[in-house]
Amino acid sequence: MADTQTNMSEIHWLMDMFQTVDVGLLVLDRHYNVQVFNGFMENHSGYTPSKVKGKLIYDLFPELDEEWFRHKAEPVFLLKNRAFTIWEQRNYIFKFSNYRPITSSAKYMYQNATFIPLSDTTGNTEHICIILYDVTDVAINRLELQAANNELERLSRTDRLTDLNNRGYWEECLLAEFNRLQRTSTHTTSMLMFDIDHFKRVNDGYGHAAGDLAIQHCANILKANLRDTDIAGRYGGEEYAVILVDTPAKQAVIFAERIRKALESSFVKYEDIVIKFTVSLGIAEFTLSFDNHVKWIAAADSALYVSKENGRNQTSIYNDTMPNAPS
Ligand code: GH3
Ligand code: MG
Ligand code: MG
Repeated sequence: MADTQTNMSEIHWLMDMFQTVDVGLLVLDRHYNVQVFNGFMENHSGYTPSKVKGKLIYDLFPELDEEWFRHKAEPVFLLKNRAFTIWEQRNYIFKFSNYRPITSSAKYMYQNATFIPLSDTTGNTEHICIILYDVTDVAINRLELQAANNELERLSRTDRLTDLNNRGYWEECLLAEFNRLQRTSTHTTSMLMFDIDHFKRVNDGYGHAAGDLAIQHCANILKANLRDTDIAGRYGGEEYAVILVDTPAKQAVIFAERIRKALESSFVKYEDIVIKFTVSLGIAEFTLSFDNHVKWIAAADSALYVSKENGRNQTSIYNDTMPNAPS
């Protein structure tokens, strides 16, 4: 009698703990009907244990991916092995609202879960228990850290004044394209370099801040004309470089002239002063004679030099008879 009483009060404590523990506990039978459902599950789903008892889990939680869930749970029944799910692979199993929406940006509770086989006295596994952990805080911290790292990485590739790629990153992209072109000869790519004409006059005449505006204006016109596959960078002070992927020189000229004309016909306004300027451009189509990517840059640069020499505000295409042609 005393023994039975002890057992009863132990069960009572156990039930209390089971109800109030801050993880979800849920027991399913072999047919995926809910047998047990603790307080955590009740609080987050809004279902009372009596309402869910004997109900099919998929009917209660229609957002549950049945095929995926079965794939996870069947081996637990059959092989009596535990199974785990983590939020990185699947953000949640049960779509519960995140109840801390003020402190975190998550809409739903991120969850990890463990599936445990429950054997009866004869050793058969007719039930499984799912333990559900709320890992929203960990997940949000991790995601925010990741976002911050991504942003830092983006910033390390980006020129602050123009938001174009900076020189270092642009050269990395160029090297990748150069290597690709050396392996496959089914397409060609052109490089465009251009430089603001008499930029010193802008700086000297209106000040450095006006010069900065001119540099930004030039970058904006460039960006407005780019295709998704073009890779543009700020190569130097008032010098820009563009990799025109899959574009022969003839087509690159059309692109270059569009930019040249757009700049020629536009202006920058700085403290009510209208500043007009032009650019000189040089194009070099890839050839296998460039034995490294620096030669390719030098080729575009010598075409740009020819544009300057011939009076500026124009586009030239590289050929190996040009002065300063890379050897
Ligand atoms: P050219 O037609 O031959 O290109 O003449 P230029 O005056 O443009 O020649 P140069 O390339 O020598 O002048 C570039 C000037 O750009 C010199 C430098 O002080 C200025 N500069 C470089 N970076 C910046 C910048 O970030 N902002 C401003 N405002 N000026 C810059
Ligand atoms: Mg210049
Ligand atoms: Mg320059």
